Amino acid sequence: MAQQGTLYIISSPSGAGKSSLINALLTQHNAAGKMQLSVSHTTRAMRPGEEQGVHYHFVSVEAFKALIASGDFLEWAEVFGNYYGTSRAAIETSLAQGIDVFLDIDWQGARQIRQQMATKSIFILPPSRAELEQRLIGRGQDSHEVIAGRMAKAIAEMVHYDEYDYVIINQDFELALFQLRAIIESQRLEIRQQQQAQQNLLQQLLAE
Ligand code: GDP
Ligand code: ADP
Ligand code: 5GP
Repeated sequence: MAQQGTLYIISSPSGAGKSSLINALLTQHNAAGKMQLSVSHTTRAMRPGEEQGVHYHFVSVEAFKALIASGDFLEWAEVFGNYYGTSRAAIETSLAQGIDVFLDIDWQGARQIRQQMATKSIFILPPSRAELEQRLIGRGQDSHEVIAGRMAKAIAEMVHYDEYDYVIINQDFELALFQLRAIIESQRLEIRQQQQAQQNLLQQLLAE
């Protein structure tokens, strides 16, 4: 049996750095192509620099509701007044090929997925509330109203940190990235994973 990929759920209040961390992980540490970000569907408007099918599959509310009705979503949730959902098919195919899949989803989605599949979930916290606000402002992609709304929702997201397996404080970016990589490496070294990944070696070493 091929080694099964691990499904990672990454959540944080908006602006804590989950997109930057996942992006750095996949661009700098994915030479083997063993990790992939699941591209969600959303009804929110595209931000400058975002591309259809790369950052999200941007769809209308009607199209989103049709996908719900046809059972395409493993989970979906309303976040900041928009719908977000994770489609089932792409994830299952990748995991079966031994690829680790990353979901950048909120706590509501995380709960739904934990009920259906084995996951490792990671919560990213900012070093302070003031720094969180600075990052949202510094990202320069959202209006004052949107930023105020996201700050107001930050606590409601952060109170769920203890439903996760791991917590990373994203103060120093490189340290947070290193810690994220450490979590992934440790899963790959777990006995059940190694028994599959190192099948041939183990057979040779243990042959009578
Ligand atoms: P960001 O918070 O600045 O990254 O802004 P986004 O608009 O990209 O995402 C807003 C929120 O929706 C974040 O909390 C994401 O984790 C969450 N989100 C994104 N995709 C999904 C999804 O497929 N399902 C669920 N449940 N939440 C999602
Ligand atoms: P999220 O995906 O959680 O909403 P982003 O990854 O978009 O957050 O990060 C929000 C902003 O903060 C971005 O402008 C990003 O460059 C910046 N940022 C991320 N991590 C750090 C860090 N450790 N130190 C300073 N700025 C950071
Ligand atoms: P994004 O567009 O998601 O905000 O970030 C783009 C890239 O900038 C990421 O791939 C990441 O490597 C890098 N980046 C974002 N924030 C920081 C930071 O605070 N420190 C460093 N060293 N790199 C960052």
